[in-house]
Amino acid sequence: MSNFHWRCLTLFGLVFIPMSNAQDVKPKPELEIRILFDNTAANKDFTRSWGFAALIDFRGKRILFDSGGDPILLLEHMEKMKIDPKSIDEAFISHVHDDHRRGIYWVFEKNPKMKVYFLDSFGIEAFKAADQVKMKPNRVKGPFELMPGVFSTGPIEGLPPEQALLLETSQGLVMIVGCSHPGIIKMVETAQTQRKKDSIRMLLGGFHLLKTEPEQIRKIVNRLDELKVKLVVPAHCTGDLATDMLQSVFGKYSAGAGRSIVMEEKRLEFRTVPLK
Ligand SMILES: [Zn+2]
Ligand SMILES: [Zn+2]
Repeated sequence: MSNFHWRCLTLFGLVFIPMSNAQDVKPKPELEIRILFDNTAANKDFTRSWGFAALIDFRGKRILFDSGGDPILLLEHMEKMKIDPKSIDEAFISHVHDDHRRGIYWVFEKNPKMKVYFLDSFGIEAFKAADQVKMKPNRVKGPFELMPGVFSTGPIEGLPPEQALLLETSQGLVMIVGCSHPGIIKMVETAQTQRKKDSIRMLLGGFHLLKTEPEQIRKIVNRLDELKVKLVVPAHCTGDLATDMLQSVFGKYSAGAGRSIVMEEKRLEFRTVPLK
């Protein structure tokens, strides 16, 4: 290929498909995260409700991260996004609280082939409810790899203990958390040590700073910056003040039910589903 052509193809850091393939189906992005359930809604077609759930499409695999506090609303939102529960390969529940766990049994009934990950420390009630739908969750006792490039931190000590999901993408580490009960700084530090990384490309989830004093939030925001977290998407239980403070440092990003976050090539894009 001539220099000129090569330069045209890589202009703006984007590599286009050669003309001969131009009619083919658009290649899927490396990563797409869709917010299924959140305390806020990204548009009026979705309902806000206390809890968190996200659907992650990463390199051809589909993972459900947490499952919200209202199973009917979760399934309704999935339907609106045209997501078939049967298409989910694995489900990852960050911690035992109802607002992250309640929907999983309902989704499992629609897709009994789905692999489910609970922390080993989840109480008897969580496993009893699993028995009732003939679900045998994998009991997470330590860090592990769910599939190539996708990791659990394993339980991080807190009230209650919690696991975070880590994706090793071509742009760096993407970290997704439920409520951050162990403390978001401790969780980020654990993730970086485990994955031997000194930065985080994107951190998404609930940070549990609803009742935290402004001075303390400021320290947390500064520490995240020091830990080279490049982009933060506050969700769920982060709280309004902490969200404002995070946005003033990391950019005006937010989650909300109905939001889609797409990573392709060198870009990260935030869309709202259905597209307006
Ligand atoms: Zn919680
Ligand atoms: Zn929560």
